[in-house]
Amino acid sequence: MTIAIIGAGIAGAICASELVRNGHKVIVFDKGRSAGGRMSSKRTENGYIDLGAQYFTARSELFSQQCMTWQAHGVIMPWQAKLAVYENAELTASPDNIVRYIGQPSMHKPVQQLLQQTQLVLECCVDRIHFDGKHWQLYRDQQPLGSFSQLVLAIPQQQAALLLANVISQFNVLAAAFAAAALQPCWAVNVALHQPSGNNFDGIFVKEDAALTWLARQTAKQGRVTTEQWLLHFSPTFSQQQLDTSAEQMALASLSQLQRILGQQLQGTVTHCHRWRYAQQTSDYPIQGYLHHADMALALCGDWLNGGRVENAWLSGYMLAQQLSV
Ligand code: FAD
Ligand code: NAD
Repeated sequence: MTIAIIGAGIAGAICASELVRNGHKVIVFDKGRSAGGRMSSKRTENGYIDLGAQYFTARSELFSQQCMTWQAHGVIMPWQAKLAVYENAELTASPDNIVRYIGQPSMHKPVQQLLQQTQLVLECCVDRIHFDGKHWQLYRDQQPLGSFSQLVLAIPQQQAALLLANVISQFNVLAAAFAAAALQPCWAVNVALHQPSGNNFDGIFVKEDAALTWLARQTAKQGRVTTEQWLLHFSPTFSQQQLDTSAEQMALASLSQLQRILGQQLQGTVTHCHRWRYAQQTSDYPIQGYLHHADMALALCGDWLNGGRVENAWLSGYMLAQQLSV
């Protein structure tokens, strides 16, 4: 059986890796220029900038083992960050003992490592799928991409909905999974300072704030830019309200937000503004692990089905691969 996986994020990558390990023939398609999805770092001449996932934690035994393997391969490392919280207009240290990992030298490295043994087709946006009762046909720009005996969609809910538009209403489980939006947006903005701020925190959790949720000093991560640059993540509510705001306007807002949190006048240039339309799971969306419809030879995995976060996306893809290998 040849399995097509659409999506080379962490969920699609571990699903592919496990299926290949279990002897299946797998082809992974992704519209991006490299694998990684929301584990995304932009390469600059000065080092990487993490625009999506900032770090990941491992709470489950299975994912902890995966992290140990990645660490042994040198594609991740623990991030010993000096953490702070911004709350009630005050910035205070907030140290803890949680182990946080970052990709090395970029966030997509562990995803690429998983896909080493898998056939990967990049820059290929699958825009039509059709089930003939036995096989799935995949298309891009009207061009056939092949015929597959099993299809896995490892893509965000709203993107899966586009491909499955004719199928969702036919099956109760799918209809329920697509009834409410699982993922909310996030604006990510990177500010390069003209002079060092003197601030020593590496990551700042912003609490009870309308605009921001997180700031990270990129310089604090090995492999990233070497001059002081701060990455800002805006809250889901703010990002939703500003979804159609231009990158230029977001850039203007970002320097003043950074000044507000660091509590000082700063001069800086916004180098990257990225709108993630489907970023973070809504807290009330139910955890389902993955979806599998055997009669349709169709399965879905990804963070949105399993509680958000890198670890949960990985677990979703991993569990689905075990199910398909039975
Ligand atoms: P994705 O990574 O979205 O992968 C889906 C892939 O499918 C993408 O590569 C996409 O290009 C591809 N694709 C989509 N449609 C098509 C199509 N039609 N054809 C071909 N390819 C297609 N998690 C943490 O644990 N820690 C964090 O600090 C953290 N911070 C985050 C910050 C931001 C701004 C964002 C956006 C996310 C963050 N997350 C964080 C969440 C984490 O990144 C995700 O949970 C995880 O990466 C999702 O993996 P996935 O494989 O399910 O989906
Ligand atoms: P984690 O355990 O470090 O963080 C979980 C949450 O606990 C944080 O959001 C924060 O509110 C709180 N927290 C953790 N350490 C803290 C400290 N030292 N001081 C104060 N508060 C602290 O990591 P995780 O559970 O693996 O979650 C991953 C992170 O990814 C979270 O921060 C989450 O918000 C973030 N995320 C962001 C997006 C986005 O779109 N911006 C999407 C998915 C996940």
